[in-house]
Amino acid sequence: MKLASRVGRIAPSPTLAMAATAKAMAAQGIDVIDFSTGEPDFDTPAPVKAAAEAAIRAGFTKYTPSSGIEELRGAVVDKLQSELGLRYEKSQVLISCGAKHSLYNLAEALLEAGDEIVIPTPYWVSYSDQALLNDAAAVLLPTLEQDGYAIHAAELERLMTPRTKAIIVNSPCNPTGATYDRKTLEAIADIAIRHDLLVISDEIYEKILYDGAKHVSIATLGPEIAARTVIVNGVSKAYAMTGWRIGYAAGPKDLIAAMGNIQSQSTSNPCSISQKAAVAALRYGESFTTEMVAEFDRRRRAIVEGLNKIQGLSCRMPSGAFYAFPNISNVLGKQGPKGTIKTPTDLAGYLLKEAHIAVVPGEPFGSQAHVRLSYATSMDTIVRGLERLDKALARLT
Ligand SMILES: *Cc1c(COP(=O)(O)O)cnc(C)c1O
Repeated sequence: MKLASRVGRIAPSPTLAMAATAKAMAAQGIDVIDFSTGEPDFDTPAPVKAAAEAAIRAGFTKYTPSSGIEELRGAVVDKLQSELGLRYEKSQVLISCGAKHSLYNLAEALLEAGDEIVIPTPYWVSYSDQALLNDAAAVLLPTLEQDGYAIHAAELERLMTPRTKAIIVNSPCNPTGATYDRKTLEAIADIAIRHDLLVISDEIYEKILYDGAKHVSIATLGPEIAARTVIVNGVSKAYAMTGWRIGYAAGPKDLIAAMGNIQSQSTSNPCSISQKAAVAALRYGESFTTEMVAEFDRRRRAIVEGLNKIQGLSCRMPSGAFYAFPNISNVLGKQGPKGTIKTPTDLAGYLLKEAHIAVVPGEPFGSQAHVRLSYATSMDTIVRGLERLDKALARLT
């Protein structure tokens, strides 16, 4: 059978693929140290589970309005008002099956053949593939490690063409853990306004910030930029709810309505029970997140310090999210048992096969010099993993 050509443009999510391989090895009894999984290792908070149980008992188990229940859209409106000072109508909020689904609905509603979408790089793996699935081109804006992955206005400006339709802002960023300061966001906003772009602000890690940093949403920089920004967020990361699949988008009414139409024709509604759980998370989840982030902070310091002690690696201290993104360029060119380690993928393959350590290679994030390690895993795993990593790299010649 001849499949649609769009299928050939994309690959399965490499982060999910690596996590699945690690889990399969563990199921065979292999002691795998898994740094690949991009989800909190914490259990979903008890009040959230209780809300879901109550929903099941109350028979809240049928189709809901396809754009999400009023109560949850209202909770999102309240959150955006109280935390960011932004006013949205409920009709400007769409609940979807995870933030990834929100982004996909957005790509479908916005993009067509020839359109360009600018993605600061390194970037989260699905942005480019979702653009490609919708016949658009992903235009990468490289940012540099030694520069703190900063975005420079002049470089962004240079990428503008009459076909540029949107720019993605992901602060804090997966995989780099970098955040953008107000000045950078102002410069991006200025360009977006002058070139009539939509800003897609993926704020899924907004609460996973360290050293007292406060989240700044580009949508808060004024009414003009607010009117052309879609905020994408969800409950997966802040409330340890990756399996519940609830995300949301808030933005211009016509765009949100179009995304809602697409959703109504593809998935109908997000899970009714998960929606009730998400209401509880948004209302009662704050203290849970604070405690989780304090623990992530401890692990962040331990893993970054440990990585920097390993010969051949260097690692920036991330300011948000839960990933270390060490530079491995000094390891490239060394010899492993199966030949020269030339790329991050070669190194990840070596570590998985020879040392049973799962990391995600940098290439699908747009880096030829890094691998990503999630520290949303126990301190014990981090300590054992670092020891094992040190020994595995020392064996390369
Ligand atoms: C995890 C993640 C998402 C998607 O989260 P959902 O589970 O689909 O809500 C979106 N963006 C980034 C950058 C992520 O890391």
